[in-house]
Amino acid sequence: MDLQQFKIRSSRKKGKLSAFLKKLDDIVPDDFPALVAEVDQSVWKEVDCTACANCCKAMTPTFTKKDIVRISAHLGMTPKEFAQKWLHKEKDTGDWVNTTQPCQFLVDNKCSIYEVRPVDCAEFPHHNKKPFDDYNDTFTQNLSYCPATLMLVQRLKKRVEKEYEWETTA
Ligand code: SF4
Ligand code: SF4
Repeated sequence: MDLQQFKIRSSRKKGKLSAFLKKLDDIVPDDFPALVAEVDQSVWKEVDCTACANCCKAMTPTFTKKDIVRISAHLGMTPKEFAQKWLHKEKDTGDWVNTTQPCQFLVDNKCSIYEVRPVDCAEFPHHNKKPFDDYNDTFTQNLSYCPATLMLVQRLKKRVEKEYEWETTA
């Protein structure tokens, strides 16, 4: 995965793709969940997360209390020791997040705590969320970070504009 190329492509496409996602806030095409599932499947045939790991390099997960308890036990630490060593609490949201980037658990481009990783990491990039259009803001933000999300939204835009009649839900 050439992340430099991805960044160039992402900044070039982001405007139009964000506008498409914004439109989805108000207008949902027919059979959209089925289309998302189909296109998402095609994306994962081409994107290999182990050759990317950009989310682990350039973003931070949110650690829930359960995540902290589970991961600290796995590492033989107390939750307090774990939080003091690697996390800080965000002022505006109160979320526990990584202090440094890339994530301290990324080793040789792979997650060294994969079996016990935060739920946020396990669910990223959230393509399976339902309804998909409730997460348009998340996908808009992730267009700059996740090659899979960029590819998914590009393909959805193309398919929707070509094949679907959009219906106003309002
Ligand atoms: S989820 Fe996205 S950003 Fe993270 S490794 Fe996979 S393709 Fe890369
Ligand atoms: S915990 Fe693992 S999957 Fe999550 S950001 Fe860190 S290295 Fe990536």
